[in-house]
Amino acid sequence: MSRLLQVGDPAPAKIINPEGTSPILLVCEHAGQGIPAALGDLGLTQDQRDAHIGWDIGAAAVTHLLSERLNATAILQHYSRLVIDCNRPPEAVDSVPEVSDGIKIPGNIALPNRRQRVEEIFEPFHAQVSGLLDSGRFSVAISVHSFTPVMQNVPRPWDIGFLYRKDADTPSRLAAYMQKTFPWMTIGHNQPYQVTGVSDWFVPVHGEARGLKHSLIEIRNDHISTEDGQAKWADILGDSLQHFLTEAST
Ligand SMILES: [Zn+2]
Repeated sequence: MSRLLQVGDPAPAKIINPEGTSPILLVCEHAGQGIPAALGDLGLTQDQRDAHIGWDIGAAAVTHLLSERLNATAILQHYSRLVIDCNRPPEAVDSVPEVSDGIKIPGNIALPNRRQRVEEIFEPFHAQVSGLLDSGRFSVAISVHSFTPVMQNVPRPWDIGFLYRKDADTPSRLAAYMQKTFPWMTIGHNQPYQVTGVSDWFVPVHGEARGLKHSLIEIRNDHISTEDGQAKWADILGDSLQHFLTEAST
């Protein structure tokens, strides 16, 4: 079988600030909206690819800023979640979705090259995340995501949500500090999603299985669709994570 990624297609994983001194590793699985050249546009318009179904709007920018503020290493994934969702087990039905928020994805129907997407994007990206986490440099893993304010016509009230299962302590401490420091904030716990072993990858595989302190953080994407919003939320998260580290070390 020929390769999916060709010369000119970027590698799935991009590591920034690799020498960062923070014990936090930042992970951004839905950072990019890239599509391998061989897949064309997946049959979607530019507007559809730019919408929340294609990537986590603002998440990459916040991750970059957070990496600077914390001097933390970050790893970002280049390809659209519509090519393959790097926060789902590859066997999940919507790992390569045929429909996303009501939009049909023509390039994902009757898929001849699903295995290539797993082998050339999902697996190498997660091998690099695992390599970083197994290096022993990090005691905390934070996954940065964003969510759409309205899903299937239902508005979502939260400004930010923490997704977790076994490690409730890390998100609870972060949320408690945020609520005290930023009283206007509506914080969701396991909102707008609940983590499960069949639908999720970061929390069960990178966080729980390694026994690391961890949380997946979801920011409502209308807060981080502009540079001002991205800077504001990087400040909020940076301040909260710094406080978390200080508290954890005392
Ligand atoms: Zn996401």
